[in-house]
Amino acid sequence: MTVSILSASTCADSTGEQVSPGEFNYVVDKFADLEILRYQVPGFETLSLQQKQLLYHLSEAGQMGRDILFDQNGRYNLAIRRTLEAIYLNYKGDTSGRDYQEFETYLKRVWFANGIHHHYAEDKFIPGFSQEFFESEVRKLAPGILPLKAGSTVDQLLAELSPVIFDPAVFPKKTVQSGDVDVIVASANNYYGEGVTQAEVENFYDRMKDPADQTPVSYGLNSRLVKENGVLTEKTWKVGGLYSDAIVQIVSELEKAATFAENDHQRRIIETLIAFYRSGDLKTFDEYSVLWVQDTASEVDFVNGFIETYGDPLGLKASWESTVNFINKEATKRTKIISDHAQWFEDHSPVDDRFKKKEVKGVSAKVITVASIGGDCYPATPIGINLPNADWIRRDHGSKSVTIENITEAYDKASQGNGFNEEFVWSDTERELMKQYGFITDNLHTDLHECLGHGSGQLLPGTDPDALKAYSSTLEEARADLFGLYYMADPKIIELNLLPDANAYKSEYYKFMMNGLMTQLVRIEPGKDVEEAHMRNRQLIARWAYEQGKADNVVELRKRDGKTYVVINDYEKLRALFGTLLGEVQRIKSEGDLAAGKKLVEDYAVKVDPVLHQEILDRYAALNLSPYKGFVNPVMKQVTNKNGEVTDIVLDYTEGYTEQMLRYSRDYSFLPSYN
Ligand code: ZN
Repeated sequence: MTVSILSASTCADSTGEQVSPGEFNYVVDKFADLEILRYQVPGFETLSLQQKQLLYHLSEAGQMGRDILFDQNGRYNLAIRRTLEAIYLNYKGDTSGRDYQEFETYLKRVWFANGIHHHYAEDKFIPGFSQEFFESEVRKLAPGILPLKAGSTVDQLLAELSPVIFDPAVFPKKTVQSGDVDVIVASANNYYGEGVTQAEVENFYDRMKDPADQTPVSYGLNSRLVKENGVLTEKTWKVGGLYSDAIVQIVSELEKAATFAENDHQRRIIETLIAFYRSGDLKTFDEYSVLWVQDTASEVDFVNGFIETYGDPLGLKASWESTVNFINKEATKRTKIISDHAQWFEDHSPVDDRFKKKEVKGVSAKVITVASIGGDCYPATPIGINLPNADWIRRDHGSKSVTIENITEAYDKASQGNGFNEEFVWSDTERELMKQYGFITDNLHTDLHECLGHGSGQLLPGTDPDALKAYSSTLEEARADLFGLYYMADPKIIELNLLPDANAYKSEYYKFMMNGLMTQLVRIEPGKDVEEAHMRNRQLIARWAYEQGKADNVVELRKRDGKTYVVINDYEKLRALFGTLLGEVQRIKSEGDLAAGKKLVEDYAVKVDPVLHQEILDRYAALNLSPYKGFVNPVMKQVTNKNGEVTDIVLDYTEGYTEQMLRYSRDYSFLPSYN
């Protein structure tokens, strides 16, 4: 499970450290609701040549699957991206006109979202350019550079693509997470074939499951489920199967990477992943996951494959992603303290003893520096990761968590002094708290969320791990966040030297409540519900605590000069509320109580107060900030001597956003336009 990109509030001025302008240029581009940043890779130069080469080939493998994600996100995405890029690269007209400007913004958004739907809000983009402009530009192009289906014409291409781009009623939403609809039919993503219904999917996978199986594979993880001649069948993503042309390239780079492995264990990890890509056998994927979670010795590490299931409303099918990283040894001292005390935290958590792990196994946590992100981690990237996702592997072998500090640092540095806290925070008292403690409490919350939160608790015997269906992602994120929030205020944290004093946690509490009750709404369009799992989780926690604490006036929404602010009157009671909710969410997960989970999410996490929402949007608009951020990768370059041998790998931080996207589309694109 990944913690997704930081909330807008956590981007605000928090360390007080000033970076002199020109030292490192964090901001690369800005368009629509997005700001593109650059991250630094401190310590890369000090790695050995072998480690750098390992990182290089893992990074290459991490870009080879880019097309897979586009296709997973929607069956016309590759054809649309290629058509838009063909226009962009061959455009000869006036670039200052409104149609062209809007066209360019749209293309940048499609690149960012890996498709035509918003990466976070899930809604289809509304193009600001006209259909006439689009069609006339397409007609100017040589048909040979367009993604035409065999034997079809440009007219047929336009007849197919134009409604997908311009008609708001066609594929309106990438992933529909809830509501009284068939979530499979209503979702535009490409995890299921045309005509497949939610009931059919649930039935298909329920029949595969054996309730007595203690080590079930992740059914359906690496395939599209389609109907052929009325019969449901899986099209597996593997060499020789669906997405083969990209997977072959991933495998080829992984084979090169294996020759630079730091040790035999790491080599086996890479080789087992290759075997999985070849066979598509989910048992092999589990073998790979177990080997991966056991590797805590290697300095270089990576995630590559079909991992997270947020994009599938039923949480079965995984999007393709990659991160490539190495350990930050200094900062890892902090997470080592946490993982060394994992059993203490489990034993003292405010949940029913039946739901606690008697023996916490294999909890490992580290702080990492990413060197490359790809697939569903790019350009919007997580700040923390906890894997593997299979419940039985977590139970028997533990999990590995990471906090990605060079990304959190880039967020932090890029947003210093942007006026956000001045606008939304109640008083100087809270602003000072956030300035003094914000960066350490943010990172600590991520550590606790990933390392202990996701890894904590256990299912009662016989509970189906998929029992919470469309609500599972939100509730799982809530569980992890609550675990972190509850413990941040524990005296144990100070005893372990993880926070400097008993006031520090208040910074995180204030920020969390302000974000969950108000400021994360800057990401939602007027009239829309909260959809994304992490956002739902934050609103769930904040609204629940606000409502439950009303009688004691624990948290207030107070007005001043017509503006609404969050005021926390009693931090200790707020902590107790977090503990109570953690107990309940853990019970829901452990027992698989779908009805209670659904009610909690629907009551607190989804709906938005329209008046408060508009107020927040207006105040935010005046600041001229971007609610979402993403990253370009540094370019890794091989340095060779006159014999062609690689003597070094260096990083180049000068590539722009459009340049990088066009280069990736040119050099890492292997799939047909229609899959
Ligand atoms: Zn998480």
